[in-house]
Amino acid sequence: MAKSRTRKASQKLVIPKSVDLPRRKTLRVGRNELCPCGSNRKYKDCHVSEGQAYLDKLVREQERKKLLQEQKEAGVPWYKRLITKALN
Ligand SMILES: [Zn+2]
Repeated sequence: MAKSRTRKASQKLVIPKSVDLPRRKTLRVGRNELCPCGSNRKYKDCHVSEGQAYLDKLVREQERKKLLQEQKEAGVPWYKRLITKALN
């Protein structure tokens, strides 16, 4: 029966082979550049041992702060801001 065949086809799960996800913002710091933590020391003398994981963490924290600041300026009540903070 044509009807049951159609139903079976629509139940088939379609999984896309590749999904375009927005690339995470990453921070690249040269060894002789100032460390982004604000210590005024060169990266190689400061957080270099913590590597890319530290830089990524720093970027996430900056983005969260920026988001909270934007929400504050937009008049989002504090309890909603806290929810966003917790989700991040
Ligand atoms: Zn540092």
